[in-house]
Amino acid sequence: MRPPIYLDYHATTPVDPRVLEAMLPFFSEQFGNAASRTHVFGWRAAEAVDAARAQVAALIGARSPEEIVFTSGATESDNLAIKGVVQACRDKGNHVITVTTEHRAVLDACKRLEQDGVSVTCLPVDPHGMVSPDAVRAAITDRTVLVSVMAANNEVGTLAPLAEIGRITRERRVLLHTDAAQAAGRIPLDVEALGVDLLSFTAHKLCGPKGIGALYVRRGVRVSPQMDGGGHESGLRSGTLNVPGVVGFGKACEICRQEMAEETARVRRLRDRLHAAITESLEKVFLNGHPTERLAGNLNLSFAGTAAEAVMATMKDVAVSSASACTTAAVEPSHVLRAMGVKRLLAHSSIRFGLGRFTTEENVDYAARRVIEVVREVRAMPSMEQLALIAARDRC
Ligand SMILES: *Cc1c(COP(=O)(O)O)cnc(C)c1O
Repeated sequence: MRPPIYLDYHATTPVDPRVLEAMLPFFSEQFGNAASRTHVFGWRAAEAVDAARAQVAALIGARSPEEIVFTSGATESDNLAIKGVVQACRDKGNHVITVTTEHRAVLDACKRLEQDGVSVTCLPVDPHGMVSPDAVRAAITDRTVLVSVMAANNEVGTLAPLAEIGRITRERRVLLHTDAAQAAGRIPLDVEALGVDLLSFTAHKLCGPKGIGALYVRRGVRVSPQMDGGGHESGLRSGTLNVPGVVGFGKACEICRQEMAEETARVRRLRDRLHAAITESLEKVFLNGHPTERLAGNLNLSFAGTAAEAVMATMKDVAVSSASACTTAAVEPSHVLRAMGVKRLLAHSSIRFGLGRFTTEENVDYAARRVIEVVREVRAMPSMEQLALIAARDRC
């Protein structure tokens, strides 16, 4: 084991070697355009895409592979789902319900719609980052066309009560979209059982390549395309398919489906080991997120008396992240932690550890040792010194 150690699986994941192997032939040998109908190059590419579409559909329990629309990733899928449904359902209403702790791809898509006169309700969460199904029920009006609730939060890992929300949206005949970029491949998802009508996910969060994702669109759900052109993907997303990416996404989904149960148990044990090691040696460390209803690989901790940026600047051999967003003016604390009621200073002291498929026990033990050392060091610094460290890092 050589540092640096990667514990930022919520940001992205390494491509599994089995996924890479599946992709390689589709760059130079079988390079055909899947939309070429007139020759064997195109047919082979189309066959590979069909097989991958079935693998992707199977991961989320889609009835038919035709309900999978390939996109460039979850950001695009979120935009297509939210803007596409609102545009297609103008005759029914113009109200969207979402949650304060959503990913920027959802919040900013909603903000854009709001500028265009759509009314958006942003529901609060409890201190564990959980949205209440009753709040969803209460927010639905006759004008509501879409509810968008993320399946698992990318900062604190909290899992949404999707099945309950799905029962409510079905009963009220409102569409349910979920951003499952963090959940797909990590927890079992079944769009039929959950009552989900649209689901966004992306390959690079499940040990597949970057730049390829999908939107599940339940058969019969109307969505207006956001990209016009050759009419690919049943007219919902024009543009030549990224065949190697699609093949890799398919393989990655298949591996997740087969190995999820075992991998989750292993990752959870490592996550709990990391948490225990840190809290045994350090006082005033607070867990952010739900204690049990949380992704197995997620550990988000606030280290009172530190600035997360100063900790990370000192701990260069362990790759972790803080959710503080760098704006030109200042470092803003995470909107997720703030929505959960975490006080400003504690929010600034929070670090997100993300564990996954290739994380080892040695990685975790090394990281725990370094975190303990560095947090002690930073806590002993005067705050001006912490600030200087942050400034020197010059990230913002
Ligand atoms: C990573 C992520 C996204 C963005 O996915 P891309 O494929 O990088 O566009 C959206 N939502 C959540 C919850 C994510 O974790």
